[in-house]
Amino acid sequence: MQSREQVYNFSSGPAALAPSVLQNAARALTDLNGTGIGILEHSHRGSAFLEVLQAAEANIRTLAAVPDDYAVLFMTASATHHFTLLARNFLASSAGDATADYCDTGVWSNKAIAAAKPFGNVHIACSAAPDFTAIPTTLNLSPGTRYVHFTSNNTIYGTQWQTEPQVGATPLICDASSDIFSKPIDISRYALLYAGAQKNLGPSGISLVIARREFLATAAPGLAPLEDYRTYDREQSLYNTPNTFGIFVIGETVKWLLAQGGLAAIAEHNAHKAARLYNFLEESEMWRARARVGHRSLMNVTFGGSTKEHEEAFLTRAEALGLSGLRGHRALGGLRASIYNAFPLQGVEALIAALKAYELENR
Ligand code: PMP
Repeated sequence: MQSREQVYNFSSGPAALAPSVLQNAARALTDLNGTGIGILEHSHRGSAFLEVLQAAEANIRTLAAVPDDYAVLFMTASATHHFTLLARNFLASSAGDATADYCDTGVWSNKAIAAAKPFGNVHIACSAAPDFTAIPTTLNLSPGTRYVHFTSNNTIYGTQWQTEPQVGATPLICDASSDIFSKPIDISRYALLYAGAQKNLGPSGISLVIARREFLATAAPGLAPLEDYRTYDREQSLYNTPNTFGIFVIGETVKWLLAQGGLAAIAEHNAHKAARLYNFLEESEMWRARARVGHRSLMNVTFGGSTKEHEEAFLTRAEALGLSGLRGHRALGGLRASIYNAFPLQGVEALIAALKAYELENR
């Protein structure tokens, strides 16, 4: 048995949330804002929940300076659903001959690519294959492409786009699931940005979408209501009963981010945390970062040991020390420290101390 105070949760998602967000969520389970009714029990059409929904949207608009001509949508869909929805909306055409460009930077972008293929031509504008340790530096866009899709942070490989791909006037679509709101963002560069909530926002099974309305208007005809992003915009995410609890938690996380000083402040915190760990890995003779300098993720630090045996022995020790969730993705092996917005600096320091101690003992 371990208590919350004894554990640092390095899980890649669902992942650590801010303690105050969890406390507010726990309170709201039995009583939302002094209504005597819990968040799970309130009607999604009632004023108590509508206040939650509207505040969440307003705070997101403030946090990320979302322009007025952009929709902010809460969808009961995970990021994987969007892989299909996007292509269904913006690639499918009656003639079946449209093309979309995809940046292939890892497992999740690959899944997005596979999901788009039934709807039209998919062109790989750049690829990080075969080792996926860096973000490609050149893009080869196809003429007349409908959009360019990229994954801003590659959760599994631990690489991250340092700036958006340069696509000119072509609509840019981003899967920002694992680095949303981790640093300042210029929303006006994006046609559509989506993120599953379970890393930097809240629970799994809900996603946040921020999209230019003019782009949403270009969707293919004949979409069913729940496939069509415009339905969520028109109905303020209330066409069907949304994940009310998920929206509550996202709203609390966004309030927490504003209280931290906003995106510039959290970016500084994230850069410091990641630099501590990467700097240690650079100095270590046993532990080595996987991603190349200049391409490294500030959210998911992937690394390995000098032997598989050291990796396994350290992982066992780490669990006993309360350093949880450090095993790398099964596709890759090694170790991965996911240190999203809410992950504390003390946890990074505890990991560094443990890695250092293991190395000293096993030189
Ligand atoms: N995109 C990225 C970048 C991810 O990290 C993940 C989940 N780890 C997904 C998409 C898929 O999310 P979900 O399983 O919630 O659909």
